[in-house]
Amino acid sequence: MPKLTEEQTAVLETVRRVAREEILPRAKELDEKKAFPEHARGLFAELGLLNPLLPAAYGGAGMDVLTFALVLEEISRVCASTGLLLIAQADGMLPILHGGSEALKQRFLSRLGGDSRLLTALAATEPQAGSDLLNMKTRAVREGDHYLIDGQKCFITNGSVADLLVVYAYTDTAKGARGISAFVVEKGTPGLGYGRNESKMGMRGSVNSELFFERMKVPAENLLGAEGTGFANLMGTLSLNRVFCAAQAVGIAQGALDVAIAHARERVQFGAPIANLSPIQFMIADMATGTEAARLLTRKAAALFDEGDRERAALHGGMAKTFASDNAMQVTTDAVQVLGGSGYMTDHPVERMMRDAKLTQIYTGTNQITRMVTGRALLKG
Ligand SMILES: Cc1cc2nc3c(=O)[nH]c(=O)nc-3n(C[C@H](O)[C@H](O)[C@H](O)COP(=O)(O)OP(=O)(O)OC[C@H]3O[C@@H](n4cnc5c(N)ncnc54)[C@H](O)[C@@H]3O)c2cc1C
Repeated sequence: MPKLTEEQTAVLETVRRVAREEILPRAKELDEKKAFPEHARGLFAELGLLNPLLPAAYGGAGMDVLTFALVLEEISRVCASTGLLLIAQADGMLPILHGGSEALKQRFLSRLGGDSRLLTALAATEPQAGSDLLNMKTRAVREGDHYLIDGQKCFITNGSVADLLVVYAYTDTAKGARGISAFVVEKGTPGLGYGRNESKMGMRGSVNSELFFERMKVPAENLLGAEGTGFANLMGTLSLNRVFCAAQAVGIAQGALDVAIAHARERVQFGAPIANLSPIQFMIADMATGTEAARLLTRKAAALFDEGDRERAALHGGMAKTFASDNAMQVTTDAVQVLGGSGYMTDHPVERMMRDAKLTQIYTGTNQITRMVTGRALLKG
């Protein structure tokens, strides 16, 4: 496990306290009401945490990837939807940071710094282009000093509430991956329309939206980098995003383990706490072992990104995402089992955690796709 610096330990302690005192009390209500975590948005903005990875040059906290992973774990330990809010913020900001000109960064990133409450999102997925992103139908055609974009996106986290969207579209379909470009699109852009916000199994305190573009007029200077660099930009963001998803999954698993241990100590059957029963002890041991292993792998991947070792970081990030999300699904399911019938009831948080965990096996590349990517990277000559 990478050794944490004093600063990282201080951030961890602050965020753990904030999570316990401010986020945990609202987690159940967010899930039940399918409400956006508005309170957390304000709180994070006050703490300068709404865009934790934003460099100090643009007024951000300038966190490294490992520190952000610690933050995501602690927040997701009590409320994964609130963790997802921060992940979506990073997803919308990183493509501009990595692909934008300095002028574009000054124009957009500087608006995300300090106590800004602005929200961002990354819009790549389309109804026929999920795992197969190259099958996207959205097109951008240059006309003078602007692009006209037509198409649609779906499932976009923060989609309808985002002030800034990064939208991916083909500028040249003949070039395949090298024909996709990325654009910054501001809320209120003519031609940008919103469909439904999805009704979901879990992570219900998160907004996931359909977006429609009809001759959406985007200034040419909002193009990120050169035409055709969008797909590489997207892959770069997704490889980091997999570490964020892994950290979220570690947090969900740890949260479920916390509840399961507390319950096992208190619940008495056959005249003694169920914690005394070997089958319960074995389950708790496996849950803790898997979660600690997922944490180690996640932090290692995060540290590799911070060291600038992008190839190994992407490999380990993919492995961490796959392993941590499968572990979160297993651990939350076992936590429900440890709580017995009570675990199945909404009075206890483990059923919510089990529903939330499922998403981590699906988004930012399903675990079938992340396994394929990992296998290919290991087997290439
Ligand atoms: C809550 C939520 C939030 C999301 N947020 C965003 C967001 O902010 N921005 C964004 O752009 N997207 C977002 N997504 C989209 C997400 O990344 C996709 O759902 C995901 O990549 C899978 O695509 P799909 O749903 O179309 O599934 P499909 O691609 O249709 O996959 C269906 C099944 O087939 C399998 N499969 C597909 N292709 C292969 C293959 N080649 N080999 C083996 N198995 C395969 C998959 O693993 C899966 O089991 C979000 C999705 C959800 C559910």
